[in-house]
Amino acid sequence: RLYNELIELKGNIRVFCRCRPLSSEEISKGHSSVIDLDPSHDTELQIICSDSSKKQFKFDHVFGPRDGQEAVFAETLPIVRSVMDGFNVCIFAYGQTGTGKTFTMEGTPENRGVNYRALEELFRSSKGGGSSEKHEFSVSMLEVYNEKIRDLLADNSDQQAKKLEIKQAADGTQEVPGLVEAQVHSIDEVWEMLKIGARNRSVGSTNANELSSRSHCLVRVMVKRENLVNGQRSKSHLWLVDLAGSERVAKIEVEGERLKESQFINKSLSALGDVISALASKNPHIPYRNSKLTHLLQSSLGGDCKTLMFAQISPSSADLGETLCSLNFASRVR
Ligand code: ADP
Ligand code: MG
Repeated sequence: RLYNELIELKGNIRVFCRCRPLSSEEISKGHSSVIDLDPSHDTELQIICSDSSKKQFKFDHVFGPRDGQEAVFAETLPIVRSVMDGFNVCIFAYGQTGTGKTFTMEGTPENRGVNYRALEELFRSSKGGGSSEKHEFSVSMLEVYNEKIRDLLADNSDQQAKKLEIKQAADGTQEVPGLVEAQVHSIDEVWEMLKIGARNRSVGSTNANELSSRSHCLVRVMVKRENLVNGQRSKSHLWLVDLAGSERVAKIEVEGERLKESQFINKSLSALGDVISALASKNPHIPYRNSKLTHLLQSSLGGDCKTLMFAQISPSSADLGETLCSLNFASRVR
C-alpha cells in the first residue's frame, strides 16, 4: 500500500522518525546498516531490503544516526511552546526495544532528552513573556503495566494499598484520583523528580531494563495559568510518553506471565495506533476506551490537541523485520 505516498494535511499530528547509530556490538557481529538517508531530503528515508529492493518512507522529519539531542529538540520546540499557548500536547516514543525510545525522551545526564529540555523551555518561557500571566507547574509520573496504573512518584509503601483508576472529571477530562501531582518550581527540581520516578519504575523487578521495556512510562506536566489582568484561570497538559517495546514476541518462545504481558502491550499499542489513525482520518468515532493508555490520554489526543510521535528504529540488518513493522505503524498514524 502507498500510505506514505499520500501527502495530506493531517492537522495536529506529526510523526518524526529517528534512527540510532549502529552499535559496536552490531558492527562486531557483522551486521550492516539498511538505512539510506539523503541529506538533502530530511523528510525521507529508504530501507534496503534483503533482496536489495528499496522501500521508501516519508515523515515530517527524519533524524539519522548523526543527529544529536539538540537537533531533535530544535524540531520539537514548536509543539512544546504551544503548551504555553494553552494546547494539550502528547509526545510519544514508539519502537522496538533498544532503538532509543528512552534515549530520546529521558536521555542521559550528558545527553538530556526531550523531557528535560521541554520542561526547561516551559520554565524559560514562563519567566520571559511579561508579567500579565502567572504559571504553576506540576509533574506526575506513572507507569502502565499489564493494564494497571502505578504511581511512580508515590511512596512505595502506599503502592499496594492504592489502586489507581481513571475517572471522568466534571469538565469532561480524564483524571486519576490519588495520583501524586508534585509542584515544581525549577528545572533542577524536575530533574530530581524524574530521577525518583525512573528509580521507582524498576522496584520489584529482577531486571530493570527488561521490565521498563514492557511497560509504558508517562510523565504528565500540568501548566496552570492565571491571567493577572482579568483573573481568568486555565490549564494545559503536556504528556511525555516512553512506550513499551513494540517488538512481536514469537508465541512459541513465551508462556505464562511473559505471554500475558506481550498481549497487553500489543493490545495497547494497537489501540493507540487505532486512535491516532482515526483522528488523522477525521473519523467521528475515536476508540479511546480500548486501553488504559488511550483512555488516560483521551483529553490530550484529538480536538485541538497536538500529537507528536517519534518512530524509533535500528539501522541494523538484523532488525530489518521489526524496523519495517515500526515504519508501517508510523506511516499508518500519519
Ligand atoms: P529503548 O528505550 O528503545 O529500549 P534505549 O534508549 O535504551 O532504547 O537505547 C538503547 C541503547 O542505544 C542505549 O545504550 C542508548 O544510549 C543508545 N542510543 C539510542 N539512541 C541513540 C542515539 N541517537 N545516539 C547514540 N546512542 C543512542
Ligand atoms: Mg527504554
